[in-house]
Amino acid sequence: MSQTNANGQFAVARLPRIVFGDGSLKKLPDLVAGFGGNVLFVTGGFFRHSLHWEAIKRELATRNIGFEHVKVRGEPSPKLVDEAVAQFRDSGIDCVVGIGGGSALDAGKAIAGLLRVGNSVMDFLEGVGPELPYEGPAVPFIACPTTAGTGSEATKNAVLSRHGPEGFKKSFRHESLVPEYALVDPELLASCPKELIAANGMDCFTQLIESYTSTRANPFTDSLAIGAIQRAKDVFFEWLNDGPRAADGRNAMAYAALISGICLAQTGLGAVHGLASPLGAFHPIPHGVACGCMVSVATETNIAAMEEREPGNPALEKYAELGRVLSGNRHLKGAEARDALIGTLNNWTRRLCMPGLMNFGIQGGDIPRLVANARGSSMTTNPIVLSDTELTAMLERRLAG
Ligand code: NAD
Repeated sequence: MSQTNANGQFAVARLPRIVFGDGSLKKLPDLVAGFGGNVLFVTGGFFRHSLHWEAIKRELATRNIGFEHVKVRGEPSPKLVDEAVAQFRDSGIDCVVGIGGGSALDAGKAIAGLLRVGNSVMDFLEGVGPELPYEGPAVPFIACPTTAGTGSEATKNAVLSRHGPEGFKKSFRHESLVPEYALVDPELLASCPKELIAANGMDCFTQLIESYTSTRANPFTDSLAIGAIQRAKDVFFEWLNDGPRAADGRNAMAYAALISGICLAQTGLGAVHGLASPLGAFHPIPHGVACGCMVSVATETNIAAMEEREPGNPALEKYAELGRVLSGNRHLKGAEARDALIGTLNNWTRRLCMPGLMNFGIQGGDIPRLVANARGSSMTTNPIVLSDTELTAMLERRLAG
C-alpha cells in the first residue's frame, strides 16, 4: 500500500474560488450579480432571523436582483431536493447560494446540480437507485458556511439522507457540483451554540486526520491538513469556552473546516466516516456527534491493526506525526507519539462530552446492520482494511460512551 503513486504523481481536482475572512459576507451581493439577476437562497432556518439576512436583502434590492428562498430544517432528504427543483426549475435561476451548516450547503449544492437537468436526485445517488452518470450542467453555486465542521463549501458531494429502518445516507457526487465560490465569513459562526461547536469541531478534526492518513493522501493535501490542525488545535477550545482568544478560535476553525473539505474532496476519508453513514441513516445521531464519538476508538483500532498486520504501512508514521503535532512535543518517537495522539483524542472525547451511542437508542443488536452498511466510499480509503470483527468491537466500545 502506498500513499502516493510509485512515481510520486498526483492530481489536484477542481477547487472553489475562496473568499475568506471576517466581514466577507458583504461581498456576496456583488458575487451574485456576476452570475445574473435572479438568485435562489437555500438557508438554515436560523439564518432568516439574523441581521445578515436583512442586510443581504437590502443590497440585492439596490442591484435589482430578485430572489427566491428554500428553508432547510434538519439533514436534507432527496424529497426536499426534488420538491425545490420542481418548484424553481422554470424560474430562470442564475445562481444558487447556500448559507448554513452542512445541511443547507448540501441541499443547495444538490438543487443547483439539478435545476437545469430535471431528473430526481435519486437517479444519481451513490449506492441506491440506478446510479445514472451525471452530466450536468449545474447552476453556479456559492457556499457560505455557518458552522465550522463539514467543509461542504469545498467538496463535490451533497450528502442526502432518508432516515429510519429503510434509511440511507448517500452522496450525489460530481466535480461540477464543486461550488464556484466558498465564501467563508467566520463572523457567521458567532451564533453557534456550544454543542454545535463541539460536534462540528470533531467532524472537522476527523476529516483532517482521515484525509491525512487516507490511502489517497498526497503532498498537497498533507501540508494543508497538518497546517490546519496546527493552527486550530489550541484555539478551538478558546472559542468553545468563550475564552479571551475566542475570535481567533472561530477564525481558525472556519479555516480548518474549509481545508478539511478541500482535503477530503481530493483524498476521501476513512473508517469513522464509513461508520458515520449508517449511524446517521438508521439512528437520530447528528453527523458531527457520530464522528466525535468514533474518532478516538477508530484511530486506536487502525494503529493496532497496522502494528500487528502491516508494520511497514506509511500511515503509522503519519499517525505518529499527528501525535507530535497535537501534543506539541516534537521529540516523541513512533509508538509513544501514536500513544500521545490516542491520549489527546480520548481526552477531547471526554472534554467535549461526546455521548455514547446508546444515547441515540443504539443497542448491541443494531451493530451487525451498522457494520454491514459501513463499507461505502469512505471505508475504501481507510489506511488499512478493517475486519467486521474490528468494526464491531469499535462500535461495542462506544455504546455506553
Ligand atoms: P446542520 O447544517 O445540520 O446544522 C445543525 C443545526 O445548527 C441546524 O438546526 C442549523 O440551522 C443550526 N445552525 C447552523 N449554523 C448555525 C449558526 N451559525 N448559529 C446557530 N445555529 C446554526 O449541521 P452541520 O453539522 O453543519 O452539517 C451536517 C450535515 O453535513 C450532515 O448531513 C452531513 O452528512 C453533511 N456533511 C457534508 C459533507 C460534504 O462534503 N458535503 C461533509 C461532512 C458532512
